Amino acid sequence: MNKPVYLDNAATTPIKPEVLEAMMPYLKEQFGNPSSAYTFAEDIKADVENARKTIADFIGAASDEIYFTSGGTESDNWALNGIAFAQKDKGKHIITSKIEHHAVLHTCEYLEKLGYEITYLDVGYNGLVDPQQVREAIRPDTILISVMFANNEIGTIQPIKEIGEIAHEHGIPFHTDAVQAYGHVRINVNEMNIDLLSVSGHKINAPVGIGFLYIRTGTKIEAFMHGGSQERHKRAGTTNAPGIIGLAKATELADKSLEKRAEYETQLRNYLIERIENEIPYSLLNGEKTNRLPNNANFSFGFIEGESLLFMLDRMSICASSGPACSTGSVDPSHVLTALGLSRELAHGSLRLTLSEDTTKEEIDYTVDSLKKALEQLREASPQYHEFINRHR
Ligand code: PLP
Repeated sequence: MNKPVYLDNAATTPIKPEVLEAMMPYLKEQFGNPSSAYTFAEDIKADVENARKTIADFIGAASDEIYFTSGGTESDNWALNGIAFAQKDKGKHIITSKIEHHAVLHTCEYLEKLGYEITYLDVGYNGLVDPQQVREAIRPDTILISVMFANNEIGTIQPIKEIGEIAHEHGIPFHTDAVQAYGHVRINVNEMNIDLLSVSGHKINAPVGIGFLYIRTGTKIEAFMHGGSQERHKRAGTTNAPGIIGLAKATELADKSLEKRAEYETQLRNYLIERIENEIPYSLLNGEKTNRLPNNANFSFGFIEGESLLFMLDRMSICASSGPACSTGSVDPSHVLTALGLSRELAHGSLRLTLSEDTTKEEIDYTVDSLKKALEQLREASPQYHEFINRHR
């Protein structure tokens, strides 16, 4: 391979040329602050509002329900803290799952320090939340249910519509972190009973530093940033016009190609899974086989350390991940994999491969061949592996 094989699209994605091209004028000649009063800025303001509409249309929302933020982490923080602070007189109980991104889990921990109570729902071995468990966890003082749309490590897609329906039967707002799902699966906030939805630009070929929080009209939520009157007084800070234009362009492209891309990625991903399952002993696919993002494959391999495997793959010019990008370097096994019931050893021996529409079959073949070599070498050096083989001779 003369260029790195990039199989870490869940961590971040490159900016598409069309996206960059759409953004360029707003970084150069159309640099004005959309909040200014002169005509030069008003044109930019109009373009930002058109971008807002493109994004709103894509998820079946109204334009004034889209609030631009700096990305997924901010949107998650805002959804949880904003509801918690605005509705504390009603109650202080929040329901979420054990496999959320740290942007949700660490915000929950912060809220616990402030006296809120959080129920962390278990997931099955397949990585799915059971809607019945959501129903059973609801209390009179529950003020928010937050369950992610698709998991960032194992790609499993949650029964969002059903969970939203249960939330609404009880008059509880429903938030979903859709950072990994947006642009990969069709989302309609009305059909799926979603009240708040977090999105990040850099996961769908827009730049890092832009995202949004969808907030259903009528939802009682505190403002997040305090300062100017941007984003209808709810999220202060000078409007990131180039980022917003880029996110809208990336959304438009994702909308056009969604089904075709999903089909291509699913086929290639299934081919990858099949080859690994057939050719690599002691490998285990993590999470439901079919009900997962089209581009995600996550495996645990027996008798190896994920970090050592990543290091060897890196030397073979393959970019992959053993868990969430933000936790690389951490010695704890993935909280997602342990929530599935995996042993510490198997959770430590995991590898996430996330494809894109640009990934080729040749790259997948090269990756599986390299993976086989790397695993053979690592297992050869593993006393546990030899002990196991000798015991089972
Ligand atoms: N939520 C999920 C599910 C994610 O995968 C990520 C990023 O990996 C985030 C939130 C954080 O998004 P951002 O990087 O835009 O802050």
